[in-house]
Amino acid sequence: MFYNEIAGVKVSALGLGNMRLPKVEGQGEKIDWEKAQEIVDYAMSHGITYYDTAYRYHGGESELFLGEAMKKYPRDSYLLASKFPGHMMEKKENGMMGFTSLLAGRPDTTVDALFHEQLRKCQVDYFDFYLLHNVSEKSVAFYNDPEVGVIDYLMKQKSLGKIRHLGFSTHAVSAETIDEFLTRHEGVFEFVQIQLNYMDWKIQDAKGKVDVIARHGLKIVVMEGVRGGRLAQLPEEQMARLHAIRPEDSAARWALRWLQGIPEVSVVLSGMSTLDQIIENVETFREPNPVSETEKDLLQEVAESMLSWVPCTACRYCTEGCPMELEIPRMIAAYNGLKNGDHMAKYNPAGAEPSLDPGRCIGCGSCASICPQNIAIPNIMRELADMLTEK
Ligand code: SF4
Ligand code: SF4
Repeated sequence: MFYNEIAGVKVSALGLGNMRLPKVEGQGEKIDWEKAQEIVDYAMSHGITYYDTAYRYHGGESELFLGEAMKKYPRDSYLLASKFPGHMMEKKENGMMGFTSLLAGRPDTTVDALFHEQLRKCQVDYFDFYLLHNVSEKSVAFYNDPEVGVIDYLMKQKSLGKIRHLGFSTHAVSAETIDEFLTRHEGVFEFVQIQLNYMDWKIQDAKGKVDVIARHGLKIVVMEGVRGGRLAQLPEEQMARLHAIRPEDSAARWALRWLQGIPEVSVVLSGMSTLDQIIENVETFREPNPVSETEKDLLQEVAESMLSWVPCTACRYCTEGCPMELEIPRMIAAYNGLKNGDHMAKYNPAGAEPSLDPGRCIGCGSCASICPQNIAIPNIMRELADMLTEK
């Protein structure tokens, strides 16, 4: 494992994201604790020091799991990052806050109660890294609101040693939103977590975001480095082009090596769901081996060949609120396959589970309002249903 730094702290270049831990079959987001512990233990014994979670990952179970999983390790042998879920909160009377979106229905709380709940769940006295979760065009007003006072409160916790380093994650559409937030709070944040991969370099202006963050002198933690697995499974034709240069390397390794070439990137998070994935990723981060300029150009060509794909990262935010319990990311993968003629085109809902039938979508739109990639999901469902009828 090689190491970088954030705010003077040595961090492993590969971090373990705890949003896609192994799950118990047929039980939604429920974590398979035994399998997940194996992944954590492998990470700890192979030099991974950065562990990222959030209040709402796995329906709130991720923090609980990590608290248990890490307690056998000395507190100073790992770095723990968690996030404040302000992107799913609203201001109420008398300093109270309510939950919205996927967290709706939970009792009202305060910033202080929520932060201490997180410390308790993670079984720690402090967070090494603590982030505002998804500062975006939709959530920035809440985070900036002085009456809510989230940032002032977290700065106070930092002065008390409960937070070592403060940052934020973002799915903002525009790099300007990030710039304005950093400028408004100059000196407060020490790192930014963004969605970054060779495909988003152009389509989500990830380049513009990296430039802004670099201008503010901050380091980057990467999420969605392989776009929720999309860049780990390239169409055959594109994969053949990569194999012609490096026959041994998987598509995922290409994507991760691309990230190693960006100087501002300190940690690349990977939500590893199987031991095989973590074994391969640890090997990819054994030592820096960034892509060459020629390889970079080739990856841009690969990205351009996939620009018409619906940019789903399989984060599954949408599935949690779907009243019809539809497997939206799987159907979007099928849609991409049918449109682009790769192996996913074999998808055939005849006799498939109801959760894979796009015709059951009632167009309520609750999925689209939560999708961090701003995908018009009901339209895709409609179009997929039509495509399958015509097939
Ligand atoms: S459609 Fe959007 S919310 Fe749903 S899994 Fe894909 S990226 Fe996530
Ligand atoms: S619009 Fe369709 S896919 Fe989206 S939440 Fe509603 S029923 Fe589910």
